[in-house]
Formats: sequence, C-alpha cells, structure tokens
Amino acid sequence: MRETVLFSEDAVNIFFHILTRCNLSCRHCYINPAQHGRGMLSLDTIEAWLSAFADLRSTANVIFLGGEPTLHPKLPEAVRAARRMGYHSITIDTNGYLFHDCIHRLSPADVDFISFSLDGATQEINDTLRGKGSYDTCLAGVKAAVARGFHTSMIYTVSDTNVHELPLMADLVPTLGIKRFFIQVLGIRGNTAQSKELHQVTKETWEKDIPETAERIAAHGIPVTFPKVFLSPDEPFACAGTVADNYFIFPNGRVYKCPLCEDYPLHGYEMCDNQLTPRPPVNETDLFNLTIPEGCVMNKLLQQDNIDYDEAGKPVNRISCCLIKNEIKAQETEPRL
Ligand code: SF4
Ligand code: SF4
Repeated sequence: MRETVLFSEDAVNIFFHILTRCNLSCRHCYINPAQHGRGMLSLDTIEAWLSAFADLRSTANVIFLGGEPTLHPKLPEAVRAARRMGYHSITIDTNGYLFHDCIHRLSPADVDFISFSLDGATQEINDTLRGKGSYDTCLAGVKAAVARGFHTSMIYTVSDTNVHELPLMADLVPTLGIKRFFIQVLGIRGNTAQSKELHQVTKETWEKDIPETAERIAAHGIPVTFPKVFLSPDEPFACAGTVADNYFIFPNGRVYKCPLCEDYPLHGYEMCDNQLTPRPPVNETDLFNLTIPEGCVMNKLLQQDNIDYDEAGKPVNRISCCLIKNEIKAQETEPRL
C-alpha cells in the first residue's frame, strides 16, 4: 500500500552534522564549506548541543551526519550519549567506510539504524558519482553491519545520471539484509548547484519510475520512502518550516529548519552558548509563510526548471515541501516521518 506521510506534530528530527570533512568527493555532495565551515565538534560540544534539545528528546530522532560521521573518532561516545539522554531513535548516515572501527565499538543496542548511501546498482555508475572504490566499500560495510546485527537502511539519490539503474536496485536491495530503503531527490545545492553537471529527473520520470521500483522493493517486506515532489492542484500544500520540527545543525553553529536554505546564511537559529537561539529577521522563517501558487517558496527561488506553466501563466503543478514523503510498504504500520 502507498501512503503520503505528512509531518508529524509529535516527531522531532535532528539532523546533526558533527563535522563536514569527508573522505569522498561525491559529485552531488550538498556540503558547502563556505557556509558550513570545516570544523569538527568536540564530544563535549556534541553532548551540550544534544542536551539543548532536552525538552524534545523523548520524541526526537537524531541522525548523525557529516561529511562522513564515522571520521569522527568519538562517534560511538556521541551515539551512546544520545541514547543515555533518552532520544527516541538514533541513526548514523554513512558512505560505508565505517572508519575508526565504529561498528565494533558500537552495539546494535546503541543505534537504531545505520544508513548507507549508494547511488548506483553497478560499480560503474555509483563510482562515477561517488568515487572509485566506494561501491565495493559500501556493500562490504552493509554486509559487516548486518553480520554484527545492526538494523541497516540505504539511501539512493536519484539524478539524470543514475535513474536508469534504479530498477536494478529492486534486484540488489533484497539481497543485502537491509530493513528500509530511501529514494532521495537530487538537491540543487552544494556541488550540484555549483557544477550544474547533474540534473533532477523530469516529472514524468519521477512519477513513473520511482513508484514502480519502490513497489518492487516493498514487495520483499522492505518499506520504501521517497519525496512526493509534485502536487496535483487539489492536494494540500504545507511547509515543514511552519508545521514540523526539523533541525539541520552544522558544526559552525548554524541551525536550519529547511534544507533548501543551506547554501545561504538564511538559518533561522544558531547555537549560542550551547543553546538553540532564534536569529533576527531576515531569515528562512520569514519565507515559510509566503503563499505562492507554485507551492514551495525555496523551490521557486532555487530551481524553477521543475515548474511548468499553462498558457494563462498558472503553474500546472505545485512543488511539495521536500520533507513530505510517500511511503510504500507491504503491510500497514503506523505512519512515520
Ligand atoms: S559521502 Fe556524503 S558528505 Fe561525503 S562527499 Fe559524498 S555526499 Fe558529501
Ligand atoms: S522545502 Fe519549501 S516547503 Fe519545505 S520547509 Fe523548505 S521552504 Fe518550506
């Protein structure tokens, strides 16, 4: 069955970039050192910033990110600190290199999911996008994590360069032992915005190819989540910036509620004296309440190419908030973000 997962008023998602450094140089990397810095947070600061969300943590999911978060030598200690503080769920997003022996310094009880990024069903396409050797290393990392008893998931970021291999993932994914599969739309930020080498797929491709592959993977009992992207005229629009609690935290202290704003100094919050502190206008918060016929304001500002207009100049479709997801699963369970 397919359902649209709206923002949950009860869920808080903390996307915690504990460093920006990475061993890879993916062609679509969204990290922008000019905006996000090159720093690595100390364990003391990670713990202090996790504590800053103390009131929310029983409903908060924390996702440790980088850069490559396993390059942080204290990642296991940071994960266990989040567990001790009572965070609802803990995920590590990794490129699969699993530095510092992290899966042997953590136990499956410490972390809810280790999520691996793979962007091609073949070595050729994945390594074209993510770098030589990354395909074999990622799959070896998945295998090692599954063998250690960790729950694992996988993220596939779709662009015009790898969309043709997405159907092959329906054959590969069920062999890996992973529990969830996420399909992500290419974000026009970071390297993608600067190089303009990679492009999002068309509406027709997105609405046909992505659900087809998702259905095939879900048939194996693996839930699949992917962004909605295009809204028909009668579907409701909502901006996560106004109705959901998502925080994208960077090591230079910037905190965004909208990932599309991350290439700009538009962050609505910052960490000051280890506290989440609202910033004065003008920032992303001032954009969230603007109502436009195209839907997402940031999409209209950053990537107008995905909006078609009729002869009267009206948008044929609207662009959904990038944080609204479709979820396809074999059996009905509770909706989640
Ligand atoms: S693995 Fe992630 S952080 Fe590293 S270069 Fe690739 S997209 Fe960027
Ligand atoms: S992606 Fe668009 S709709 Fe979603 S939070 Fe950002 S501005 Fe709002």
